[in-house]
Amino acid sequence: MAGKLLYEGKAKKIFETEHPYEVEVYFKDDATAFNGAKKGQIDSKGVLNNAISSMFFELLEANGVKSHFIKKIDERVMLVKKLKIIQIEVVVRNIAAGSLSQRIGWTEGKLLPCPVVEFYYKDDDLGDPLINDYHVAAMGLATPEELAFLAKESLKVNEILKAHLLGRKVKLVDFKLEYGKSDQEILLGDEISPDTCRFWDSETNLKLDKDRFRRDLGGVEEAYQEIYDRLKG
Ligand code: UDP
Repeated sequence: MAGKLLYEGKAKKIFETEHPYEVEVYFKDDATAFNGAKKGQIDSKGVLNNAISSMFFELLEANGVKSHFIKKIDERVMLVKKLKIIQIEVVVRNIAAGSLSQRIGWTEGKLLPCPVVEFYYKDDDLGDPLINDYHVAAMGLATPEELAFLAKESLKVNEILKAHLLGRKVKLVDFKLEYGKSDQEILLGDEISPDTCRFWDSETNLKLDKDRFRRDLGGVEEAYQEIYDRLKG
């Protein structure tokens, strides 16, 4: 790796580079779920998530969505712009699943009449609670204009990814995005992978994402590989 370890998260490590405004992201095979309560390893996950995220960031860039992505350096390492992360996780949903199904009582698989955007406060100790725009204002996490941008940009990401994935016979059920600031500009950050999205086969609804790990469904690595293969074409 280039420089010293700046931060180690559940799935990634961040290293400094010679350039103060760039960092290297190293993708690990470690897997966690339920806010770290369930731990495991998924063979090759780091390699696949780096490759999948890189493809998505390139696709988004080509469609006018700016992100921290600079380039994929090797199998497990991505070079990105250093961001000051905004402590809000933006979730976009097209189909009911996971915590939405539990909270609203909608059956998993119900097609939503319109995409739903949710905000969560990024705080592991609190278990990333659901928040709304009033909480964001009171907590000073973002200005109303910034929050409106996060919602609009995330819906744009949804349209781009949804169409691209459907062409590869994958339904985009829901996903989580994180953003950060680089020199006052808000850029999309983190990763976009089967760890952070729900992907279902468009014909069989077979789960091709981290729910296979969360719910002990087996075939976890194969699912990540399948997403990679379909994106690669
Ligand atoms: N998600 C994520 N990180 C989190 C929470 C959720 O990447 O800390 C993703 C998750 O993979 C799914 C979407 O956000 O694609 C919605 O997750 P949900 O709120 O249903 O929570 P979950 O059921 O995963 O606990």
